[in-house]
Amino acid sequence: MSAPAIFDLSGRVAAVTGGNGGIGLGIARGFAEAGAAVAILARDENKNREALGELRALGVRALALKLDVTDRAALAPALAEVERALGPVDILVNNAGIARTVGVARGEIGDWDHVIETNLNAAFLLARLAARAMIPRRRGKIINIGSEYSLFGNPIAHSYSASKGALIQLTRSMAVELAPHNIQVNAIVPGWIESDMTAPMKSRPFYQEVLRRTPAGRLGTPAECAGAAIFLASAAADFVTGATLIVDGGYSIK
Ligand code: NDP
Repeated sequence: MSAPAIFDLSGRVAAVTGGNGGIGLGIARGFAEAGAAVAILARDENKNREALGELRALGVRALALKLDVTDRAALAPALAEVERALGPVDILVNNAGIARTVGVARGEIGDWDHVIETNLNAAFLLARLAARAMIPRRRGKIINIGSEYSLFGNPIAHSYSASKGALIQLTRSMAVELAPHNIQVNAIVPGWIESDMTAPMKSRPFYQEVLRRTPAGRLGTPAECAGAAIFLASAAADFVTGATLIVDGGYSIK
């Protein structure tokens, strides 16, 4: 059974940062299944190669680019390379993200800077570049990946929560600026999702706390983030902008 046409991404080009694993790869796969050509942009060439193989096996045009999103000079050339290989970017997903321990009592300022540069500054710079190219075409979708810590405080990861909270306000501000150009900017707030980022927490008591607090009683999967991304990337969301779509099994309502 094929998906309703309103969710069809055939003919669209998507770029997903950090698309070689975890939530990013879940979203990249979802886009490919919905018919989009997909570029993944991340640092690890082995993971890039493996993910690229998976995407091509789904029968779409795909590209994997080695990119460190904190390398500001490399951002414009990377988007230009996607355009050369696949066509102009219609959908940008700012998914690349890291977490570090940086609080008042603990952590290094260098880690603060690295998290803010990766999670927030790179998202803005890439969105700006992508949006400038979308404006003349009068269409585009930008999706920023937030976190539960876009909404809640965190006792030990202030740079992470500050970056993810700011991403929501960045989403809203860009949405206001770009709506007249028919470009929609939205955010997804995933709850606790199975990935390399969350794997280490399974051996800690905090994991049981997360399960208790999540009404669904489990972590989500990267594939379960894909539906929200397909919706926001598709014509079904042409009148949805500045929104924060929470995909968390109910964690944030309890
Ligand atoms: P992973 O650690 O599995 O994936 C992170 C991805 O980001 C990897 O593909 C990594 O690829 C890429 N990445 C990291 N730093 C850079 C960089 N400097 N340049 C380019 N790519 C980079 O984590 P998740 O899939 O869990 O996380 C994805 C996003 O979702 C993040 O923004 C995270 O904050 C957010 N999130 C995750 C949640 C979870 O429970 N898992 C919950 C809420 C939000 P490479 O190392 O090859 O560069």
